[in-house]
Amino acid sequence: MLDILRRIVQEVSSVTELSEALKVVVARIREAMRTEVCSVYLYDPETKRYVLMATEGLKEEAVGKVSLSSSQGLVGLVGTREEPLNIDNAPAHPRFQFLPETGEDPFLSFLGVPIIHHKRLMGVMVVQQRDSRQFDEGEEAFLVTMSAQLAGVIAHAEATGNILHIPKTPSEQKKSARFNGAPGAPGVGLGVGVVISPAADLASVVDREPESITDELARFDQALDAARNEIRKLGGQLEGELRPEEMALFDVYLNMLDDNALGAEVKAAIQRGNWAQGALREVVMEYVGHFQMMEDVYLRERATDIMDLGTRILAHMQGAEVETSEDDYPDATILVSEELTPAMLGEVPTHKLRALVSVKGSSNSHVAILARAMGVPTVMGAVDLPYAQLEGIDIVVDGYRGLLYSNPNEELREQYQAIYEEEQALAEDLEGLLHQPAETLDGHRIPLLVNTGLITDALRSLDRGAEGVGLYRTEVPFMMKDRFPSENEQQKIYREQLEAFSPNQVTMRTLDVGGDKSLTYFPINEANPFLGWRGIRVTLDHPEIFLVQVRAMMKASEGLNNLRIMLPMISNVSEVDEALHLIYRAHVETLEEGFHVEMPQVGVMIEVPAAVYQIPDLVQRVDFLSVGSNDLTQYLLAVDRNNPRVADLYQAFHPAVLMALKKIVDEAHAEQKPVSVCGELAGNPMGAVLLMAMGYDSLSMNATNLPKVKSIIRGISKEWSEQLLAEVLTMESGQVIASTMQLMLEKAGFGRIIGPSVR
Ligand code: PEP
Ligand code: MG
Repeated sequence: MLDILRRIVQEVSSVTELSEALKVVVARIREAMRTEVCSVYLYDPETKRYVLMATEGLKEEAVGKVSLSSSQGLVGLVGTREEPLNIDNAPAHPRFQFLPETGEDPFLSFLGVPIIHHKRLMGVMVVQQRDSRQFDEGEEAFLVTMSAQLAGVIAHAEATGNILHIPKTPSEQKKSARFNGAPGAPGVGLGVGVVISPAADLASVVDREPESITDELARFDQALDAARNEIRKLGGQLEGELRPEEMALFDVYLNMLDDNALGAEVKAAIQRGNWAQGALREVVMEYVGHFQMMEDVYLRERATDIMDLGTRILAHMQGAEVETSEDDYPDATILVSEELTPAMLGEVPTHKLRALVSVKGSSNSHVAILARAMGVPTVMGAVDLPYAQLEGIDIVVDGYRGLLYSNPNEELREQYQAIYEEEQALAEDLEGLLHQPAETLDGHRIPLLVNTGLITDALRSLDRGAEGVGLYRTEVPFMMKDRFPSENEQQKIYREQLEAFSPNQVTMRTLDVGGDKSLTYFPINEANPFLGWRGIRVTLDHPEIFLVQVRAMMKASEGLNNLRIMLPMISNVSEVDEALHLIYRAHVETLEEGFHVEMPQVGVMIEVPAAVYQIPDLVQRVDFLSVGSNDLTQYLLAVDRNNPRVADLYQAFHPAVLMALKKIVDEAHAEQKPVSVCGELAGNPMGAVLLMAMGYDSLSMNATNLPKVKSIIRGISKEWSEQLLAEVLTMESGQVIASTMQLMLEKAGFGRIIGPSVR
């Protein structure tokens, strides 16, 4: 049976049209189960009816015409009860509905199973037989298994527009569709889709013997030069947006094109007797294949960069139109691509760019990192998006939740327009808000800090009134390079952050790679990376990396002394002891080298449930604690923070998370040590209210959310937030807590700041 199932699934996956897939399914199932009829009815939520979509055994003409309401027939019953119905005399059942159009009257046995995807009823699958007999257990199990497989196929078809295509005609204009991805950069963007596709098709290039090797070499050199200039130019267009250090990313691309790297290999392939285009395909595809095989998402993404470069060179060889002009882009451009690259980002004039959408990639993709630094709302990993259909379509991008709406209806558009305007207004009010403290109506002050990665983030956050850096993710500058940065290079990068915020504190986290973040030049391939070699575990195993980094931080702080060092992913006190030992050693070495620096404060991140239960032991070893609520939520709830399939279970307001947060702050304060939160929850206006009420000493968040949090804090009293906290701590569901918070803040007049309802 497993074999039949596998074959059917394979056959179905190779068909692109849903109607074809359904035809294959009903034919194969009827054959495999040796029944007389197999049919699929799909549920149309708009008409609330089950429509016969495919049949083998009933009248073909009935397909697409016959439908049943939820309260009609045995099909309706299976759908309502959401469980199989297996009977040997269907016409005798009180719910039997005779449908003359299908010619089904002679069939007595009936087995119907619901088709359910992620709790959503998609339809009903039915097999029927003339004789009166009960289908056996094995047959029922087979159909249930088949239906579970089919549910995924239908959901995919629906998402990719095979059923629910992007409406184009005026009569369809009202139909909006929502697609899920992952948040790449916060903010909302409204505009018109511009789909950017590669200028040439590398994969389709054939091998060919060259007439003259010298000519081919010259042709390649010319195209390579042109591609180099193009990358330089695209990078140059972002110059006003990014700092020179961050342009290093474009140097990495230029290096890939270097005569000693990709360039040399293509030339060797030409020398071996392939024409330039074929040689280019040969080399690029080999690299791409190599990177794509890597389990690590981040490394797989390097395949994209190489493909992008290869395509650009090919386009030059083929004389394709590669230049775009400002006029090619509408005033409010939503840039959409199967896989966005930083170079593509440079193609749109920044004043016209409202948002970015990429089908592939994650929040750790280079393009997402740059988008965050530039403040461009971004959705990544929208895998089910029929992106090619989005050209010229109205789009709303919600970078906070990782959602995209095509053809948004009036109500939705208004909601998002209001948020957009509120953000603009807040940005304008910043002048006023900038120097105001985050202080409640009853005089409670809570410093709002910013999370940074690039120096651009840091500078942008200064305009937004950040009172220091609560989390500097040092892995970000590491990810922008093609090798470990030297101690000197690191020192320079860190100095900029420290100087920008001096005399305010900058909390630098030691290298946090592993999990979903890795370095091309330091690959980590593991079956279970979030439970593997990540954060402090990696750096303690590589004291040479750790010591270089810590010394660079200390040297960078000379004369400023506003550095704090923070350790990620601590799950054992011994890790803290070992790290402290290395930090002291680095301090001594730094002093010996003649630098005059004070020993910085050291803190521990609370991100792992084990650490929650050892707060007293941890806190007495260090100067401060900071909660990484993103990882803490992921590990407490056992829900991958990047997996859209379980996104609904990733509940930031889950009672267990709130109780852990409360315990951490209470126990840290019992030892008179300060504690902050630097995960996304701190930048969520509703989360910030609860964290302040719990007593957290500071909150660190992305620069986009900072003004929102500040304006809410300035509009409420600490006492009110404490009442709210007491109320939600009695609740047992994360969803109920989130909606209560939403409601309470809306009632208090902050509806526009917190945005549309939470997931
Ligand atoms: C966290 O886990 O909450 C955190 C701040 O660290 P990161 O998101 O970089 O893992
Ligand atoms: Mg973390």
